[in-house]
Amino acid sequence: MHQSIETTRHQFLHALAAVTTSNELEEVKVKFLGRKGPLQEFMKTLKTVASEQRASTGKLINDLKTFISENCHQKWLQIISQEEQQQLSSETIDITLPGRKNRMGRSHPLTAARDKILSILMSMGFSVQLGPDIDTDYYNFEALNFAPDHPARDMHDTFYIAPHLLLRTHTSNIQARVMEKHQPPIRIVAPGKAYRNETITARSHVFFHQIEALYIDKKVTFADLFATLTEFLEKLFEQKIEVRYRPSYFPFVEPGLEVDVSCLICEAKGCSICKQSGWLEIAGAGMIHPEVLKHGGIDAEQFSGFAWGIGLERLVIILKKVQDIRLFSENNLKFLSQFTSF
Ligand SMILES: [Zn+2]
Repeated sequence: MHQSIETTRHQFLHALAAVTTSNELEEVKVKFLGRKGPLQEFMKTLKTVASEQRASTGKLINDLKTFISENCHQKWLQIISQEEQQQLSSETIDITLPGRKNRMGRSHPLTAARDKILSILMSMGFSVQLGPDIDTDYYNFEALNFAPDHPARDMHDTFYIAPHLLLRTHTSNIQARVMEKHQPPIRIVAPGKAYRNETITARSHVFFHQIEALYIDKKVTFADLFATLTEFLEKLFEQKIEVRYRPSYFPFVEPGLEVDVSCLICEAKGCSICKQSGWLEIAGAGMIHPEVLKHGGIDAEQFSGFAWGIGLERLVIILKKVQDIRLFSENNLKFLSQFTSF
């Protein structure tokens, strides 16, 4: 019996030495301590041992049981720490790798330009008013002195939704709406989208963005228009600039003007952006036509006013040298991420 116990101890040590995983360890444990294992057999045969040797033999069996349990526990700790180390080493962070950049979001160039224009005009006392994109023929044309058969309507290739309902061709549709609701002094700025049924090319699109300013009060003159617009443009371009006014025609102003600024890119020396002229066409403007005031319910004898509008795409195209107007609406991050500020 003593010999068998000693043999079992050697067999156990031999089996334990070969163990490398926790599963293998469990198998060895079951093999020696399990119901069909040698330890159970020893307990059964203990009854047949002579009574004077039984106590010492029983102690040997118990010692072996404790020996096996403790060795299995030690081995288990060893395996666990090895497995943890393996897992840790596979998860090691390589601190020499470059970090992952979080991209910063930014405003669309047209939004940035619009926001800058609005903040300048608000600081000059203008308040923001919005008009509907879908409007009636009356507010888009008739109230602005485009009679139903007016030839200037041909200049606006219009998307009609129904006979008298259309996508506005300019943000000037806000003018009569504001005049109907408020008596002068009126000092508003209206940003928004406008739509024209044009062929989409690098230079023209079916929609674009305008910002329109409107000022109506007693004794508003050309001098007010020039002074306000020049001050606004100098704040926008953050430098002293020369402004040039050329006569032009829009039905809702009389007289009408095209507004040019001295080319900021070549300092008026002549470049490809200003087509060697030294001037950049930047806005349309004029004194509000008396007919437009009448349509808005304002006494044209007592009040006068001016209006001017800027095309946002055109402004960004000029200042940021954008080659193609279609880029603004394609949501291409390579294009958009070039604009850190307006
Ligand atoms: Zn130039």
